[in-house]
Amino acid sequence: NNYDYLFKVLLIGESGVGKSSLMIRFTDEFFMDSHIATIGVDFKIKTVNVDDKLVKLQIWDTAGQDRFRSITRQYYRGTKGVILVYDVTNRDSFERIKDWMEEIDRYGEKNCCSIVIGNKSDLESKREVPKEIGQLFAEQHGLKFIETSAKMNKNVDEMFEQISKQMKETEIKNIAN
Ligand code: GDP
Repeated sequence: NNYDYLFKVLLIGESGVGKSSLMIRFTDEFFMDSHIATIGVDFKIKTVNVDDKLVKLQIWDTAGQDRFRSITRQYYRGTKGVILVYDVTNRDSFERIKDWMEEIDRYGEKNCCSIVIGNKSDLESKREVPKEIGQLFAEQHGLKFIETSAKMNKNVDEMFEQISKQMKETEIKNIAN
């Protein structure tokens, strides 16, 4: 084995918030400016180092959720971490986060970790969701919160490291019980 842990992670959120961009930035280390709508799902692999352990991430980009609702349950099968993404320049995408949370409650595995992400933090002049509002929302749900920019490569590694850390700690706790 070339890893200590293998975790399936989902990127969830409204279309256009930057899920594919975050995944590509992290795994392929570039930013794509043109929008290529993802059809169905696609996953990529990347291994990160968390506290001297190798955590292999299988990252699924779940664009097109609305059109493929029938296979939602399958997305969640075996998922240890969900990255809930909204766009800081789009209030609606933020309002929808609580709907995705309900979906995780319904379909997600128990002990599934999640994290709230406000993406496109580089677009300060177009911002509709203040950082404090995102922060407060996440806190109220007991979740960690990070603002990212896939475009400027800001906090993207940190976001995946944070969820990896949570999944690893949850896994250790489960083994102990
Ligand atoms: P998805 O539908 O959630 O997968 O969103 P995409 O990754 O396809 O991104 C939608 C659009 O937003 C594309 O035009 C991206 O180039 C753009 N985008 C994604 N992330 C950022 C970001 O951090 N900053 C800016 N300015 N644009 C972004």
